[in-house]
Amino acid sequence: MGKDSVVMVRCLVMKLSEKNHTYFLQKLSKQRAKLVKGASDTIANDLSVIDGELADTIDRSTVETERSFMLRLRERERKLINKIDEALSRLNKDEFGQCEECGDNIGLERLKARPVATLCINCKEDEEKRES
Ligand SMILES: [Zn+2]
Repeated sequence: MGKDSVVMVRCLVMKLSEKNHTYFLQKLSKQRAKLVKGASDTIANDLSVIDGELADTIDRSTVETERSFMLRLRERERKLINKIDEALSRLNKDEFGQCEECGDNIGLERLKARPVATLCINCKEDEEKRES
């Protein structure tokens, strides 16, 4: 592919308007905050159980809370937070909304339903066919 055609392809890629950029930034940040908060509540509950039963290990538990925070997130939440972080970094690099497979636009409607999507609907369907 010559340099000119690369430039042309770049131009075809959807550029998020300022408004949509802010929209997705807020949406992703909120979703992330909610996940992290949910995880903190889980840990707080765990600690209050420990408090009653094993008071002598409380200090150690408190120290370990920070370190074990990510470990104690449920697998699914951890994956989702990673995906949100990736989406946020794509947003920063102006790559948000591009399909990882074909470089096509993922499409605004699809992104609004699923901001962490990395594949356009066609590539997603192909992937699902391969996996099934
Ligand atoms: Zn695609």
